[in-house]
This record gives sequence, structure tokens and C-alpha cells, in this order.
Amino acid sequence: MVAALSAFSPSECPRLVVKVGSSLLVAEDGTVRQDWLATLVADIAERQKAGQKIMLVSSGAIALGARRLGLKGGGRKSLDDAQAAAAAGQIALSQCWAELLGAQSLTAAQILVTLGDLEDRRRYLNAAATLDRLLRLDAIPLINENDSVATEEIRFGDNDRLAARIGQAARADGIILLSNVAGLYSADPKRDDTAELIRSVDAIDETVAAMAEGASDMGSGGMTSKIQAARIATAAGIPLAIVSGEPDSPLRAFTETGTGTIFAADRAPSARESWMAGRLTATGSVTIDAGAAKALRDGNSLLPAGVTHVTGAFDRGDVVDITDESGTIVARGLAEYDSAAAERIKGRQTGELEAILGYAPRPALVHRNHMVFL
Ligand code: GLU
Repeated sequence: MVAALSAFSPSECPRLVVKVGSSLLVAEDGTVRQDWLATLVADIAERQKAGQKIMLVSSGAIALGARRLGLKGGGRKSLDDAQAAAAAGQIALSQCWAELLGAQSLTAAQILVTLGDLEDRRRYLNAAATLDRLLRLDAIPLINENDSVATEEIRFGDNDRLAARIGQAARADGIILLSNVAGLYSADPKRDDTAELIRSVDAIDETVAAMAEGASDMGSGGMTSKIQAARIATAAGIPLAIVSGEPDSPLRAFTETGTGTIFAADRAPSARESWMAGRLTATGSVTIDAGAAKALRDGNSLLPAGVTHVTGAFDRGDVVDITDESGTIVARGLAEYDSAAAERIKGRQTGELEAILGYAPRPALVHRNHMVFL
């Protein structure tokens, strides 16, 4: 599968997510880069006219709010500061987008979400339905993390992964991360002049992950979070591009020059599979023995007999990681038992379960239809 530029064109990509990083939107003095933003909005209007539905994931609330509240360190010195800055900045950020989009006769519709919102299956489906309705109404969803209420544990922390999750929820066909770098390089271009831009990635393997780690830190998410976003997106069947947002009209520049890194999508998994695989947190985990690992690979469900350890407190229906003896997460799935019951039946044969539980057992601890390999 070769990653292609046309994957992001209005004809091949009816629904596109565009993520805009803080450093592109907000100048060093804390003001909005209004002129540049107007060129991006003109690009968006052009694509909408060509029939593409665009969703915007916009950063910049913390940077904008920090200036308004007079907070040092760009508002990122403490969680309290960041949350206050986000509250003051979000209002300015959405006003700015709404005015610029409005000038192109486009309607912005704001959605603020936390990681927790998208990890909970029901709230995820609600967000997905709202996005779908807005797109059908030709509005432009404007999305950001709800930083003012998200605590450390339930934060995305970067809008790269948020963009990937929104792409999944809205069944997008492409995701473009506009960034202050041109893409993924083979080495850090600031320190190594043999560094080359990687134009296309067909599989995110260890070499790709190592390149991301070698990259100097860029933006709040850095290259590592962009690769994580690419993993979530491509596993959900959505191609993702890291593109420089530095030029004016950055979407048009991408179409014309093709400069950037494009990650090709894997086969499209089912919606439930991709939601499960893209979750950033599992509620608990179960460790399995080698025999069970083989049985899973052969397409079987996970039976209690193959489980050696149960970790964490989970309810029936929660997502759990399935880990092999070396500690590698091999799969993820919905638990058929809560953690207390799982603890009691681990390592036990199917025939013993009824006596232990006091009720007719369910056939598996994780059914193969509710499991996805990682
Ligand atoms: N949600 C943060 C903001 O609006 C930005 C997170 C990021 O930079 O990725 O400032």
C-alpha cells in the first residue's frame, strides 16, 4: 500500500480532519496570527466548495489565555494555570475562528471534549452522532480538549491524538496535522544535515518510532505524539499526513507540492474494533500463558484457563489489555466478567466455573468477537 497525496483530495476524502498547532496560530507575543489564519480559512472554504467536509481540531487556547491573564511561561507553569488560561483563551480562539469562517459564509460549531468523553463508549457514540449531524448540516466542527476540566489522568495533553480520535468518531477519510515541521525526518534536521524528509510511511515499525524519538521537540505534542496519532488513525483505516503549516495557504501548498509525511491506512477495521484499538487507556489487564496466546492467534476466545494474572479493577464490559508472559500487550477486548470474578476463575477449566461462581458461566473471559489484536 503506497501512501498517496490524493488520499486527502476532496474527491477521495469526503471527510477531512485538519489539526492546527498552537505555534502556528499564536505568535510569540501571544496574539493570533490573523493574516496566516485567514489564508488557511480560504483553503478550507475552497475545499468545502469542492464538496469536502472539514473538521478543525484547534490548539491555542492556553497560549492565548496566558497572555490575557498575564500568566508566565505561556500558562503552562502549573495545571491550575493551564486550566485557567484555557478557559480565558478558548473564548477568544472560537471567536476568532467563528469570525474568519463566518466571513467565508461558513458556520463554526464548537465541541470541547476530554479523553474520558471519548474513552467511554456511550459518550463517544454521542460525540460521533453530533459530529455527523454537524457535517451533514455543512457546519465546521471546531474541536479542542476541554482543558479546564480535564485532570492529569484524563488529559489527552496533545491535540494530535485528539485529532486521530475525532477522525475515528466522525468516520473521517483523512487527517492532516498542520505543524511547525515539514514532517518526519530520518534524523534531527537541526543537528544532522544528512537528515531526509520521509515522504511516505506504509507501516509504523520500530525504525519509524526511533526516528520520531530522535527528532528534536517540536510543539507541545512533539513528533512522538504525532506518531501515536498516526498509529491510531491508520489502525482505524484513516491515512494521516504531517504537513508544514508555515507557508500561507498551507492546505493548498500541500496539494501543490506534496511536501509532508503521509502515513498509509491499514485495512479498515470495524467501527467497534477501531474504537477499542484507539483507546488510550484500558481499565485493567489480564496476563495469559503461551497456550492461550497461541489459541488467540488461531482465532479463539480467551478462556479463564489460560489466564495467569488479573490486574486492576474492571467491570463487565470494560476494555482490558491482554498481555503475554513477557509483558507485551497482544490484544485488547471487552471483559465478560468483572475483575473480582476474573480473579476467582483464572486458571480454572470451563467445567469448574459453575461451582466457583454459583451461576452458569459465560463461555469466555474475552470473546473473540469483542477482541482486537494490537
Ligand atoms: N488544548 C491545548 C490548547 O488549546 C493544546 C494542546 C496541544 O498543543 O496539542 O492550548
